[in-house]
Amino acid sequence: MKKLLTILCLLLLSPCSYSEDPPLDIDYSIISKTITNNAVALRERALSDNLSVDIVESLTTEVGPRRMGTEGDKRAISWALEKFKELGFDRVWTEEVLLDRGWVRGEAKAEILSPYPHNIVMTALGYSVGTNGDLVGEIVEFKTFAELEAVPEGNNLKGKIAFVSYSMSDFKPHPSQPSMGGYSEGTKARSRGHVTAAKRGAEALIIRSVGTDSNRYAHTGSGYGYEEGVKKIPAAAVSAPDAILIQNILKRETPVIMKMNMTSEIIGPKKGANIIGEITGREPSDQYLVLGAHMDSWDEGTGALDDGAGVGAMMAAAAFIGQMEKRPKRSLRVLLFAGEEIGFYGVNDYMKKHKGALDKHVLGAEADGGGGRVHTLIPGVGETALLVINEMHKLIAPLGIVLSNNNNAKGGSDMSVLGEAGMPALNFSQNSNDYFKYHHTPNDTFDKIIDEDMRYLTAAYSTIFYLAAEMPINFRH
Ligand SMILES: [Zn+2]
Repeated sequence: MKKLLTILCLLLLSPCSYSEDPPLDIDYSIISKTITNNAVALRERALSDNLSVDIVESLTTEVGPRRMGTEGDKRAISWALEKFKELGFDRVWTEEVLLDRGWVRGEAKAEILSPYPHNIVMTALGYSVGTNGDLVGEIVEFKTFAELEAVPEGNNLKGKIAFVSYSMSDFKPHPSQPSMGGYSEGTKARSRGHVTAAKRGAEALIIRSVGTDSNRYAHTGSGYGYEEGVKKIPAAAVSAPDAILIQNILKRETPVIMKMNMTSEIIGPKKGANIIGEITGREPSDQYLVLGAHMDSWDEGTGALDDGAGVGAMMAAAAFIGQMEKRPKRSLRVLLFAGEEIGFYGVNDYMKKHKGALDKHVLGAEADGGGGRVHTLIPGVGETALLVINEMHKLIAPLGIVLSNNNNAKGGSDMSVLGEAGMPALNFSQNSNDYFKYHHTPNDTFDKIIDEDMRYLTAAYSTIFYLAAEMPINFRH
């Protein structure tokens, strides 16, 4: 086996230091030998080239935090335009996206006044109003968002601070990905808790941070806004250790009285942009494949994992394809979306502008799960295209990626809006075990990127999207 691999590597004149198994069982009537060889060479190049990491380093160093509509976001847009050009993309442009509100984070302080005085580490959830001075209230705990929802609407929580103590670590649906189900459960209170609590008369909402770490800092998130006609109450996340501390106090003695002071402020409308870079295919066609990531990040870290890693992987994956001897038949576009974190502003605007051109989107996928390796490829394509995906998968199987039996992928994150609308899609499920320790925190910084994992991540996207761009497959259902 090793000898065969060496011969194959010599024939391809490419470094084959990483992947153990050569794809000898490819059905060449489905993927030609030439395309197979090109794909293997591309994969191996991606595995030995640190470009995706360099891109994340550049973005986090030269731009840093980039919440939509902020000065950081403006710098990120200029940065992306320059980076696309530097990487040899043929066409680069922006499409303006409007944001109906801006936000100033301000400061967030909290302390337990009684029965046991403690300082509490807390951060404002995105686009929360401030407390307008000190806000003092009794903490009432709800183990889940559903428990809070079960309180009848009205004044039951008047004078109270509603506390949803749900921990995403309690939810373990799949051994390879312990966090995803718990994450979506946790985001319920994060995104809707303030409105739900206000409808029950509460003065404020606090949640246990949606994350898997035990660090004493809080995870921000959300930003989905308030509901017309419902009182705008402040919303914040406390660190996991502080959530446990509050629970321990509640077990001993009630009432537990907390004082919060947040100077967050909602301000006027802002502008942002989706940034698009294209590697133009060699054959005239108005069809293209789309690789997505989101450009915006939360503001307390530098957005390295969320979603600098996605930006780096997608830009590098397409750049490697663009740097091959021959362009693939069809074009590839990298879509860097605005405002994902605050409610899919960029992709919703993209859908409005490109709705009539949805049939030109051959296949799409988004990287928005940090810098970890892909463990499962999930297709979301027509039945006939599944045969081809099956062969394509063999070329990334040496990266430790299995092919899912499901065929229901929507592309993930922003891209799932296009997937839901009928675009064929792939989901590259990543190892996200570390991701939820850092994301939406001050600790989402470049040092968390693991170079080799990023190369594996980039190799998976690059290989599959080269094959899909080169082969005239109709992926539609
Ligand atoms: Zn993200």
